[in-house]
Amino acid sequence: MVELLSERVSRIAPSATFAVKAKANALKAKGVDVLSFGLGEPDFDTPQHIKDAAKKALDEGFTKYTAAAGIPELREGIASKMKEQNSVECSAANIIVSNGAKHSLHNIFQAMLNPGDEVIILSPYWVSYLEQIKLSEGKPIIVDCDEQFQPIPDKIREAITDNTKMIVVNSPNNPTGAVFPKASLKAVADIALENDVYILSDECYENFVYGGAEHHSVASLSPEIAEKTITVNAFSKTFAMTGWRVGYAVAPEPLVKAMSSLQGQTTSNVNSIAQKAVIAALEGSLDDVKNMAKAFDERRKFAVDAFNSIDGVKCNKPEGAFYLFPYVDGLYTEKVKGSSAFCDFLLEEAHVALVPGVAFGLDSCVRFSCASSLESIEKGLKQIKEATKAL
Ligand code: PMP
Ligand code: GLU
Repeated sequence: MVELLSERVSRIAPSATFAVKAKANALKAKGVDVLSFGLGEPDFDTPQHIKDAAKKALDEGFTKYTAAAGIPELREGIASKMKEQNSVECSAANIIVSNGAKHSLHNIFQAMLNPGDEVIILSPYWVSYLEQIKLSEGKPIIVDCDEQFQPIPDKIREAITDNTKMIVVNSPNNPTGAVFPKASLKAVADIALENDVYILSDECYENFVYGGAEHHSVASLSPEIAEKTITVNAFSKTFAMTGWRVGYAVAPEPLVKAMSSLQGQTTSNVNSIAQKAVIAALEGSLDDVKNMAKAFDERRKFAVDAFNSIDGVKCNKPEGAFYLFPYVDGLYTEKVKGSSAFCDFLLEEAHVALVPGVAFGLDSCVRFSCASSLESIEKGLKQIKEATKAL
């Protein structure tokens, strides 16, 4: 019988983050009061000046196709932001606007990978890298970080082969919240330079760093490194705009051109109104972003202590993003074995939704998103502590 599905798509697992949201919603639909710490998206509203710019664009009839790579004004605005805020030299020709960072990443893999090309991913890793690389017929090569979730340069060096095309770096990190210090980023970048491979730097959480930690763009480390680096970012987290779907890549011009052709033949431009809205985000103040970061910081401090007060749990204090990635394997039992079973147990018994660490490459952990009010985090942690007494 003729196969309905292609081999390519059959290789892809559903997004674990969205799967948790679906499970929690199904339970909510039955009337259960579920506290969601699963999907990572700020609980804050998109700032008013950004919404106003969208309304204006709509009223002015800015509702037609735009250039596939994004409107020139926006690409220029992003290039200026990269220069001023990230110390990355670039021009509008190096920028392509896509439907969220997820789309940027997919298009990069599509445009850069030949079958069998190896891509080094540092574990724990964000769920979609692995599947997107497979979708582009590349081969993900997973290299573990240390217990504090920091990269181990020697291990990365050992993983390089003649087929290595790029190394993916994500700091501040999803799922661990780790921020890689400048020296570590430099060490990874030097390995890339020595071996003539590219670096893909996903900097979606750049504005969320705490307690003296600093974010450094990999492409800012040296002009040589800049030439070998593709930076991905989005408005999704920084401006609480996950649903608007605007992300971007900063890349060598030939790659931007290839990705524009890809977009021109597949999705075309990002929603015209959303593009106008993010111009306002770039031009406006970062006060709302700073307030969000302050709230995440407060929640993170509380949640780390609360997790560490549970017997059998060990939680690193993250310096960035808005996730915690506690080790919970001390609580695994014959019946609740592994992070998936543990998350199912928590959903059923504590009515809280977390994402299993196995989806991010580390089954000893679970991911907890601090993108909920402090009140619900307090309540959720209490329920987790209570329910896990039975294990
Ligand atoms: N990279 C990382 C590390 C993420 O956590 C996410 C999820 N927001 C994305 C990329 C995708 O972001 P977007 O919603 O802009 O597609
Ligand atoms: N990046 C967020 C997360 O990891 C949103 C979901 C997704 O894009 O997969 O939860």
